[in-house]
Amino acid sequence: MNFDLNDEHRLLEQSVREWAGREVAPRIRELDRQHRFDPAIFPQMAALGLLGVSLPAEYGGSGTDYLSLGLASEELEYVDTSLRVILSVHVGLNSLTLLSWGTQEQKQRYLVPQAAGRKIATFGLTEPSAGSDARGIQSVAIKRGDRYYLTGEKMWISLADVADHFLVFAWSDLEKKKKRDPSGISAFVVERASAGFSSGTLKEKWGILAGNTGFFKMEEVEVPEENIVGRPGEGFKIAMFALDQGRFTVAAGATGLIRACRDASVKYARERTAFGVEIGQHQLVKEMIAQMESDYQAARLLWLRAGWLKNVGRRSTRETGLAKWFATVASERAASDAVQVHGANGYSDEYPVGRFYRNCKGAVIYEGTREIHKLMQADYLLGYRADRPTRCELPPYRAADLAGE
Ligand SMILES: Cc1cc2nc3c(=O)[nH]c(=O)nc-3n(C[C@H](O)[C@H](O)[C@H](O)COP(=O)(O)OP(=O)(O)OC[C@H]3O[C@@H](n4cnc5c(N)ncnc54)[C@H](O)[C@@H]3O)c2cc1C
Repeated sequence: MNFDLNDEHRLLEQSVREWAGREVAPRIRELDRQHRFDPAIFPQMAALGLLGVSLPAEYGGSGTDYLSLGLASEELEYVDTSLRVILSVHVGLNSLTLLSWGTQEQKQRYLVPQAAGRKIATFGLTEPSAGSDARGIQSVAIKRGDRYYLTGEKMWISLADVADHFLVFAWSDLEKKKKRDPSGISAFVVERASAGFSSGTLKEKWGILAGNTGFFKMEEVEVPEENIVGRPGEGFKIAMFALDQGRFTVAAGATGLIRACRDASVKYARERTAFGVEIGQHQLVKEMIAQMESDYQAARLLWLRAGWLKNVGRRSTRETGLAKWFATVASERAASDAVQVHGANGYSDEYPVGRFYRNCKGAVIYEGTREIHKLMQADYLLGYRADRPTRCELPPYRAADLAGE
């Protein structure tokens, strides 16, 4: 077993850390205060190769392995969750799904510009009346000739108001919809420019304020048959597949947030005095900081294992889910304690920990809530759930090299 990162990993980690620290960290408090998403971030991330991270070079990606996606996610969320969310939806949920399930034409038309960062992509599953219960979606795709016509509304969609390409899930079999049979759901690539498509930004959100979260509506949006991803009726499986990659980025990102809480708390505990000593000298403050360290190290090992499984081409739904569940719940604990370590100062946005506290909660809800993940892990153990092979899998990363062949 080798726990070392290679030179390529370390270089990526370092360059993302430097860029986010230099270009985003000094501005993030103002962006957050103003609830402002800055689209200028996209060309910068593209220049770093981040919008094509872990995508093969033949499609214009960085050609790096899946651990690189995790490392980039961890470094981005160390600075702000909004940065990591971009990787989650653009690379994790959308591009890696097209890589695994898309046709050659779809890859050339959509994946190549996404990997280069010329087009931004996201994932539209959730609707006003259905989140955890994905079979409860109401969007429909009616086929007429060689076209589908999509009608419905998607809600709580990251980058909804700025993305160009949307991986959208809708019922293409209305009889199966009545029976809630998920083999009636299909996946489609929808372009923003399509007639009948409109989007907006959610204004009432109280976390990830420097990120764009919104909704989009489709009114008889015409989608050519070639834009169906996978086969008709494979949409539900594709959505679950996509979540395996999205959850991986969320796990690694939440790990970065725990580290940010830990570092801010250590710094403050050495600066602030109470009862004549640095507050770090008080045992109960030490206890909070020690917990952050143990959560950070455990969360990191869990996402690294999931990334390794992806590299060698093994199914990692169970391990990725565990990593996501553990890291997000631990990040909530870390952020709450980081505010506590900062006392009243933690309750002001003069310090970053209040932002961490608001940001961490989203990840305990999206890509499978805490409760859904808890149920999944119990079901694996109890034998009520098992991962079955899907028709398309994530391509392994140079499996021969990793196996030392
Ligand atoms: C900031 C943000 C960004 C998001 N980005 C995206 C995106 O890009 N694309 C996208 O498609 N979606 C996105 N979402 C939506 C997200 O995936 C959903 O909010 C999530 O799946 C939960 O669904 P829900 O909000 O409808 O809650 P519900 O499913 O209504 O759940 C409400 C509560 O009931 C509990 N619950 C539900 N079912 C069960 C059960 N069977 N057993 C026990 N408890 C249960 C839940 O755990 C939760 O506590 C985003 C959400 C947020 C907050």
